[in-house]
Amino acid sequence: MYAIAIHGGAGTIARASLTPEQEAEYRQGLEAALDAGYEVLQKGGAALDAVEAAVRSLEDCPLFNAGRGAVFTHDGHHELDAAVMTGHNRLAGAIAGAREVQNPITLARLVMEKTDHVLLGYPGADDLAREHGLPLQPVEYFFTQKRYDQLQDALKSGKSQLDHAPDPHRKKGTVGAVALDSQGHLAAATSTGGMTAKKYSRIGDSPLIGAGTWADERCAISCTGDGEYFIRAVAAYDVACLVEYKGLSLEEAARVVVQEKLVAAKGEGGLIAVDAEGNLTLPFNSEGMYRASRREGEEPVVAIYKE
Ligand code: ASP
Repeated sequence: MYAIAIHGGAGTIARASLTPEQEAEYRQGLEAALDAGYEVLQKGGAALDAVEAAVRSLEDCPLFNAGRGAVFTHDGHHELDAAVMTGHNRLAGAIAGAREVQNPITLARLVMEKTDHVLLGYPGADDLAREHGLPLQPVEYFFTQKRYDQLQDALKSGKSQLDHAPDPHRKKGTVGAVALDSQGHLAAATSTGGMTAKKYSRIGDSPLIGAGTWADERCAISCTGDGEYFIRAVAAYDVACLVEYKGLSLEEAARVVVQEKLVAAKGEGGLIAVDAEGNLTLPFNSEGMYRASRREGEEPVVAIYKE
């Protein structure tokens, strides 16, 4: 059995606020990323390669808040966070605040595979990318007019914002993928530009192992939402703990974290998760979450709103 799920961010995504054309674009972006990951698994490839391929596709798509299309910081640049983890060997790599690397998820993987470290910050993360010849991009590459407009709105309101706040311009988000491969191995990956107008080198949950990203031999999880709440909840790891220590099913564990614990703490968002049997769950407590999934031999499922 193999299976994959991806997300493109959670938040206030009301049906009425997307035109049919915009909705079609998002669906295409999600489908392309899902296909990229599924194809790896179909060919017998590793879960790690599948989640990297899916996330790279989302990073390259300007609709989502990761890589190209990442949100602007308060100072008008981009600070990219990403993490990857493989379950069977509990290896992890992450970067926070990178400014130049085209595909942050590939740099996170490089940290995991080519260094003795887990998490690298700015400016060292970009230095590592440069040393290993990963493609770097000038600031213009990451520019999108909509993100720039979001920054101007945020500066007026005076605070950093969750990417999918009620404003129609803020409906794109953090990306992630989780996969089970035919060897029974699990992997999780998450990549984001973080919050619009973030200051002081703010780092969210996405690159923090256990908070926004986690994989072990039972399950793999990637989160999206209001990062500070996910950090305090150690959300991704909490799902894995409920599975391991309480014996909950993956679906029930994820429901407890997203619909009970995070709701009680007022943390908006969701997550995607897969277990070693190929069970998938994609819960969210926000109005919507860009998401897609596919299990071996089944049709792909792509969704945005609450069903
Ligand atoms: N969790 C991300 C962060 O706080 C944001 C998001 O998922 O949209 O950086």
